[in-house]
Amino acid sequence: MKKYVAGVDIGNASTETALGLIENNQLVECVSGIANTSGIKGTYDNIKGIEKSLKDAAKKMGIEVSDIDLIRINEATPVIGDFAMETITETIITESTLIGHNPDTPGGIGLGIGETIRLQDIGKAEKDKAYIVVVNEEIDFVDAAKMINAALEEGVDITGAILKKDDGVLVNNRITKVIPILDEVASIDRVPIGMPCAVEVADAGACIEFLSNPYGIATVFGLNASETKQIVHIAKALIGNRSAVVIKTPAGEVKERKIPAGEIILHKRGREYNARVDRGSKEIMDVVRKVKDIEDVTGTKGTNVGGMLEKVRKQMADLTEQDYNTVFIKDIMAVDTIVPKEVQGNLAKEFSMEKAVGIAAMVKTEKLHMRRLADAVSAKLGVEVEIGGVEGSMAVRGALTTPGTEKPILVLDIGAGSTDACLLNAKNESRPVHLAGAGHMVTMLINAELGLNDVKLAEDIKKYPLAKVESLYHIRHEDGSVQFFEDAIDSKLFARTIVVKPTGWKPIKTKQNMEKIRAVRREAKEKVLISNIIRALEKVSLSGNITEFEHVVLVGGSSLDFELGNMVTDALAYYGIVSGKANVRKTEGPRNAVATGLLLSYLEELENGR
Ligand code: ADP
Ligand code: MG
Repeated sequence: MKKYVAGVDIGNASTETALGLIENNQLVECVSGIANTSGIKGTYDNIKGIEKSLKDAAKKMGIEVSDIDLIRINEATPVIGDFAMETITETIITESTLIGHNPDTPGGIGLGIGETIRLQDIGKAEKDKAYIVVVNEEIDFVDAAKMINAALEEGVDITGAILKKDDGVLVNNRITKVIPILDEVASIDRVPIGMPCAVEVADAGACIEFLSNPYGIATVFGLNASETKQIVHIAKALIGNRSAVVIKTPAGEVKERKIPAGEIILHKRGREYNARVDRGSKEIMDVVRKVKDIEDVTGTKGTNVGGMLEKVRKQMADLTEQDYNTVFIKDIMAVDTIVPKEVQGNLAKEFSMEKAVGIAAMVKTEKLHMRRLADAVSAKLGVEVEIGGVEGSMAVRGALTTPGTEKPILVLDIGAGSTDACLLNAKNESRPVHLAGAGHMVTMLINAELGLNDVKLAEDIKKYPLAKVESLYHIRHEDGSVQFFEDAIDSKLFARTIVVKPTGWKPIKTKQNMEKIRAVRREAKEKVLISNIIRALEKVSLSGNITEFEHVVLVGGSSLDFELGNMVTDALAYYGIVSGKANVRKTEGPRNAVATGLLLSYLEELENGR
């Protein structure tokens, strides 16, 4: 007797199908299908994605969806995750101290120290003083160059220039002395006049050295030790810039202010355990580790953390049609990060890297309404739909089709919103755990730390390696290898860092260089995925000693990651654990584990006389 049975896994991000042809209780053929999950999992909105995923598989089998005899969907673990970022420092400039300005094309080179003077007033310059000229929009670059040359001729000591317009290179080409020239200073009228000032421009491709060093600034302005302490934040904000200007005003000060970021409160058996967000992720995660079986998590009202935790709770309550007060947050994950933020009181949109904490939360409720969804799918497709097993044990079944695996096995399903671990021992007993934080959090961190404001681009940076277009005929890959081309590369990509996608290249619009982007990418994966893998092992472990595991198999979309495998091997080799990506059904890699498990569990039921 011929029968088509499909296992369908509805995840937060993807809906995967394993479609099998069963003859005489034997699986004779099996194909996979995949589609993006439509809507939040467990809702009627999912039907579209389910149908698409089934169609994808049916086509490969050469049948119609209506030819399928039985669909088994997973008893989805009702887990949803969300992510929030809480900035905990803020750099503020009081008065008019200009810092960290980094225009695209500064002019000249070197370090200039002097008193600020409007170029219009250069006639009033004193002979024994050095000056930095401030040029507003009233003077064009030709006149500015003429006036500077004339003054130099008369013996005025001009050591640098600050320009409103983007004319740094133009002025530099026309003057008789090489001085550092900083341009594109939008609020030039706010540059204080008659104040000690330092302008530094480094060679193309290099970084400033003097003004990014607190002692350099101290040397320039003759600061004492306590004054030097105050300008550490200026120096910090200037690290990595090609150009900068620092002006000392009597009341001017750059401060790092701590923003009250609120507290996270973990609840367990009537007791509260608090962690202050502004102390960083370590303190938060130490508390999470200590409390273990968390009953609920709340946050200080009026803060981002508080708002995010309540949003997740509300979303889940709506979804499951449960009372808001009965939905509990079972896990959170916090990571330290730094994000570029516009400096308060800035003159030319300067940014500084501010400390922040990223937090992912996970909610679990009693049950999603999967039965209702199953009935709706059945009505729509005219195919019988039943609910198979729970996600965790299905993932293990699927993962066990990987050659070289055996029980006891620990399977880690790294998806979009959560990292799910399931241990299956030789006696077929399983222990599932669910942790907040997975692929989505990595994407959000990359997006924030690089200041991209483009989640799609961040997702691409996460998934594919980088390269730099070094000439119109060659690129240098991030591993250092060079690739040449017969035809000229699109000139728009010249000198840009690109994401090398299989479907084509994508330029990254950011001032950060390739090494920095790569470092941010790898660090985000370390901070979220590797930390969560270790956390999952600690939680599943019966003895609390994670060296008890021998085989750790990775499944789920995030395990497809091109560099995660090596990172995991590195991290776990330390504990003597063998780990690797699954190869579900010998062909699917780490994909399709849960869907395959659903199909296989049906076959097991047949064997046991279903
Ligand atoms: P879910 O089970 O929650 O639906 P999936 O198992 O489909 O999730 O995994 C989705 C996650 O996998 C997303 O965060 C996505 O960015 C990530 N992902 C998909 N492909 C890749 C890849 N090639 N490299 C890295 N991450 C990937
Ligand atoms: Mg999944």
